Amino acid sequence: MRGNAEAHELVAPGSLDAALDLLAGAPGQWTPIAGGTELMVAHAAGRLTAKRLMSLWGIPDLRFIETTPENIVIGACATFRDLRVSGAVGDDLPLLAKAASWIGSIANQSRATIGGNLVNGSPAADSSPALLVYDAEIELISVHGKRRVPYAEFHTGYKKTLLGNDELVHAIHLPRRFSKHRQYLRKVGTRRAMAISKVALAATALVEEGSVREIRLAAASLAAFPTRLYRAEDAICGQVVTAETIQAGRNALLAEVVPIDDIRSTADYRKCVAANLLEEFLVDLKTEGPQQ
Ligand SMILES: Cc1cc2nc3c(=O)[nH]c(=O)nc-3n(C[C@H](O)[C@H](O)[C@H](O)COP(=O)(O)OP(=O)(O)OC[C@H]3O[C@@H](n4cnc5c(N)ncnc54)[C@H](O)[C@@H]3O)c2cc1C
Repeated sequence: MRGNAEAHELVAPGSLDAALDLLAGAPGQWTPIAGGTELMVAHAAGRLTAKRLMSLWGIPDLRFIETTPENIVIGACATFRDLRVSGAVGDDLPLLAKAASWIGSIANQSRATIGGNLVNGSPAADSSPALLVYDAEIELISVHGKRRVPYAEFHTGYKKTLLGNDELVHAIHLPRRFSKHRQYLRKVGTRRAMAISKVALAATALVEEGSVREIRLAAASLAAFPTRLYRAEDAICGQVVTAETIQAGRNALLAEVVPIDDIRSTADYRKCVAANLLEEFLVDLKTEGPQQ
């Protein structure tokens, strides 16, 4: 049944400080709403339990993309369109630009924010695998100040995060040091657009003198939340990519992922496809050439 708009209070604090003051005055009482592409769907379906909504839309201190010599810093309310058209993101973080280009539709990308994607905490969130392999850090903010946590530690369970009830996600910090890494991102869904992933895999690897010196692997839809695949990384790091290395990587991945059966796919299919995606990336690592 459709939700009743009159059952909800909506305020627009207009500035970051005013938003933080509201949260501090009644911790846990206010639900931030950014692009609304998750919350308005819940409202339309009559599933929106939050009574007091606080709009973050239009707050300039939350919507920005800044570049420093070492980092790209993305405000939580940057939309996926902002990421798609950003030259800095396209140059330094091509996997994130690619993920932004396939989130929902063009209309959806103009509203959907990166902060909303992360806090919503879907196991299938499209920005997550890229952020994980780029070693993103999440900056949280409250009236008490800012704190930064590795994105790899931000999700603590299904739709659970480290976000405190008086905090907002302020920004995402991404190091600019992956230009020499081979990079890979592939999403497998029912169709090319407007589909939630059955499986997605992202990877960055530094190959020197034929050996894998560094590797980061991350997946969506293979666990209760998007995760790094540390065991598969350990099986591959330091090795020359041979058929044996590929098999060891596949075995390690299959041992660590815990996908579920749901309406979009089965656990067995997800495991099989994830191992094949890893193999696709590793086979390509054997060839010389630019990043993908
Ligand atoms: C038609 C359609 C297609 C979609 N396709 C995709 C897709 O392909 N891939 C994908 O990953 N997602 C998809 N989504 C889901 C959604 O668009 C994304 O998750 C989006 O990034 C959510 O951002 P938002 O700003 O709209 O979130 P909102 O709905 O505003 O908020 C979502 C959650 O985040 C919280 N929140 C938002 N901003 C902050 C902040 N700064 N600090 C603290 N909490 C915050 C809110 O309180 C809420 O809990 C789709 C949605 C629709 C409706």
